Amino acid sequence: MTNVLVLNSTYQPLQVTSVRRAVTLLLADKAETVEAAQAVLRSQRLTLQVPLVIRLVGYVRLPRGLSLPLTRRNVLLRDRYTCQYCGRQPGKETLTLDHVTPRSRGGETVWENVVVACGPCNRRKADRMPVEASLRLRRPPRAPRYIVRALLERGKPQTWRKYLP
Ligand SMILES: [Zn+2]
Repeated sequence: MTNVLVLNSTYQPLQVTSVRRAVTLLLADKAETVEAAQAVLRSQRLTLQVPLVIRLVGYVRLPRGLSLPLTRRNVLLRDRYTCQYCGRQPGKETLTLDHVTPRSRGGETVWENVVVACGPCNRRKADRMPVEASLRLRRPPRAPRYIVRALLERGKPQTWRKYLP
């Protein structure tokens, strides 16, 4: 099932959510459908076109650093499919995720501590700090500020395009 783009009441893109969550918002009159697919969702009590883009009825003040879930796919997008140590782009299948401060040393799985690494760099670094393996990060990893930024990179459905900056 596809995801749904959620717009603020001002039509500013806010986030991406599941169809299930979008339908919940629609049924609670907290959002309205802006774009819908041809496909229809049916239940015993209602029939609803599958939403593609919804708009919140009430304005949502954007929290600073609206968080994007930390998944392999999102880290790959943030780091542009590039090893953050050597700069190689061997293709997403062979890229790995590396904990800068290893988990064995209390390194957390957070945006600021996870980067994309190629196989050779990851093996060389192993359970060490970058400096111990004579590796240097090309730039310090940070949490993406807006979910939309990652969406812009690739894979955004055609129907979302006109709503994205
Ligand atoms: Zn590398």
